[in-house]
Amino acid sequence: MKELKIRLIGALNDFLPKDHPEPTIRVAFQGSQTYKHLIESLGVPHPEIAEIRVNGNPDEVNQIALEDCTVEVFPYQPGDPRIRPEVIRFVLDGHLGKLTSYLRLLGFDVDYRYDADDPTLAEISATENRILLTRDRGLLKRNQVHFGYWIRAQDPRQQLVEVIRRYGMAGEILPFSRCPKCNGVLHTVEKAAVLPNLLPQTRVYYDRFWQCPDCGQIYWQGSHYQHLQTWLNGFLANP
Ligand SMILES: [Zn+2]
Repeated sequence: MKELKIRLIGALNDFLPKDHPEPTIRVAFQGSQTYKHLIESLGVPHPEIAEIRVNGNPDEVNQIALEDCTVEVFPYQPGDPRIRPEVIRFVLDGHLGKLTSYLRLLGFDVDYRYDADDPTLAEISATENRILLTRDRGLLKRNQVHFGYWIRAQDPRQQLVEVIRRYGMAGEILPFSRCPKCNGVLHTVEKAAVLPNLLPQTRVYYDRFWQCPDCGQIYWQGSHYQHLQTWLNGFLANP
């Protein structure tokens, strides 16, 4: 049996059990294994690995692992241009429905099907150059996945903050440009055109409306949106 040591840096320690005592982990292996395989065996998916150093020297994760070496594994820093396509867009795992709505509400292109299986999600991510967000680290280990991130937070608003910070998206927020329900591209509509569809209170208090051409849903800046906007402004003022 061969052995090497792996030291996870910074946010990559999130993949270890909370009470993990040692920053350096001894990993035993047999035969020829890549660094990538051995690092992923600790629960760290490759899309979160920025670089590795073997005995202090930069190396490639796909290299065959040396025996008795020390491998330092570095995460990407928030805002690193290597973690996202130029035009940011996402595909989200089925358990992230609320985060999907929030991202779309802020104008981001999010592919979401609550019942999509892992091979489908990985395929969409790879072929459409979409960042795969999930709380399933096994999904991120699929070879096809290039842009991907394991969402740490469980609360949807905290998840939104996490994503905006990681991808440096604050300057790209464009509310009321995407349909939160179906990802359609919204357009503005005259109040008169949608008047018959509005509740009496909405008719009185709101004058600006948007409609989704795909599902027909009508939107206005109601209390739900205003609460999110207020909360988001607070967060953006103190990033
Ligand atoms: Zn729609």
